Order: sequence, then C-alpha cells, then structure tokens
Amino acid sequence: MDHRQQSALGWIQTLALTMGCLLSPTLVSARDFFIIFGSESQKRLVSCIAEASTGLVPETSDSQEPMTFVILEHHKFLATRAAFHSYRTRLAFSNLATRRIYLSSHVLRDRDTALRVIAHELGHFVIRDAIEGHAEFAAERIRWRARQRC
Ligand SMILES: [Zn+2]
Repeated sequence: MDHRQQSALGWIQTLALTMGCLLSPTLVSARDFFIIFGSESQKRLVSCIAEASTGLVPETSDSQEPMTFVILEHHKFLATRAAFHSYRTRLAFSNLATRRIYLSSHVLRDRDTALRVIAHELGHFVIRDAIEGHAEFAAERIRWRARQRC
C-alpha cells in the first residue's frame, strides 16, 4: 500500500468515526438500555435507577429493541405527549411496544421525583401492562433498590 492509499484509508476511518459520532451523539449505553438527550448528570441518575431494575424487566422475545429513555425539555415533552395522545400523564409515559420511556426534564429536578416517576414507568415494563396499581407494586421494589445506590 503506498502513501496515498494509506492516507485515503486513514481519511475513510476518520470519516467513519465522525459519522458514528454524528449518528449517536447522545446515546449512552449502560448494559441494555439507551438514554437519549439530557445532560450528563441527568443521564447518570436515569442510568442508575434503570440499573436498579436489572433482572426485573423481562426481555421480550417480540422486541429486539433496547430499553430507551428519552429525556425532553418540558415543552417538548408536552408536544410529544400530545402526539401519542397520552394526556393522562404529567411527567412521563411509556410505550411498551417500542420499549421507550419518555421523561420530562421536570422528572429530573430532584432525586425523589426521579425515583418516584422513573421507577413507576419501569414498573409498567416489569408487569408488562398499563394498569397503574400493578406498575406501582413493581415500582416499589425498583425504588427500594435504587435508594440504596443512586
Ligand atoms: Zn403508569
């Protein structure tokens, strides 16, 4: 390989790396979930609470999607909520089919709110239905675990 080929190869590698970064600028992988948007500290808190649910959320055979958290500024959250016709929820909602949890940035204002809301949403994935009482029951266990470590 001559010098020109080598530099072309180097350029392609650089381009591939850049593209990779452009495609996933805000994805943080922690085990088998992703967090999109949000600040680093917000991501750390979500990540910690999500890890507290490890082993409780069943892997679904019908979906290969990783669990994904989407942190949105509150006004964007409200717009997204409207798009999903999910008006009953104030700060967060989940889509079980796509394994996505949408969080308003207000959820992450303090640790207690984050624990309460995120564990509740994860609770829906543990029991795999939309019944609030069932989700809360599952959420208590996640909260207990998360309180020890987050
Ligand atoms: Zn709920």
